[in-house]
Amino acid sequence: MPCSNPASTDESFGNLQDIFRGGDVLGYSGNMSVSNLSASTQDYLKAVWVLGEWSDEPVTQKRIAERLGLKLSSVSDAVRRLTDQGLLDHTPRGAVTLTESGQSYAVEMVRRHRLIETFLVATLGYRWDQVHDEAEMIEHAVSDFMIERIAEHLGYPDQDPHGDLIPSADGTAHRSEAVLLTELEQGRPARVVRISDEDPALLQFFAERGIGVSVVVEVQEGAPYSDSLRVRIDGSSQIMPLGRSATDAVRVEPLD
Ligand SMILES: [Zn+2]
Repeated sequence: MPCSNPASTDESFGNLQDIFRGGDVLGYSGNMSVSNLSASTQDYLKAVWVLGEWSDEPVTQKRIAERLGLKLSSVSDAVRRLTDQGLLDHTPRGAVTLTESGQSYAVEMVRRHRLIETFLVATLGYRWDQVHDEAEMIEHAVSDFMIERIAEHLGYPDQDPHGDLIPSADGTAHRSEAVLLTELEQGRPARVVRISDEDPALLQFFAERGIGVSVVVEVQEGAPYSDSLRVRIDGSSQIMPLGRSATDAVRVEPLD
């Protein structure tokens, strides 16, 4: 594993230094470990992949900036650099896509993130609302060796605690047919398959109300223009009103 490179006197190398941590940058062949990419490059590639995971909307620089909490100008610079590196493509109209090697690195980062979250819950007893921020940090530091040991220890799980699919080591990731809770027809029972891990407070809110992965929900008639849904949880008599910010985080698979 290369250690960090001492400052180079070569001007043309300067730009690459915040893309790669060092090592054999100029001999880059597309086959090296994702560990050789800088944390910021790892974040960009993962963000592009995750933004396309549940949506067919083009991944724009604006969406990347929102997701990463960065200025649009920083994102444009990074997208240009990563395009030069053969990791991203972008059209003049602004849609950003992953190249084949960008895609395989992105999937590796998603796999790291979701395995770490699963490990923290299953092995260390974390709650599901406590793991996302930890995983965001650890995913950059963990080695490929440790990730494979974690996967083995957990028995190669295919889902993380939020219901997100964990890609396999060969990069296979498949998208589920789940729909947003807001798209579920009234009165039709459905199983919760995924709750976005982005907002820990929202995860806690759901946990306190008995809403989690594999719980059965049913949407009732809502008050007109209220922008909220009334949801029955696990067939109980209690109906819970849920606002848009909550329902947009939940994906379900209709039963029957
Ligand atoms: Zn997460």
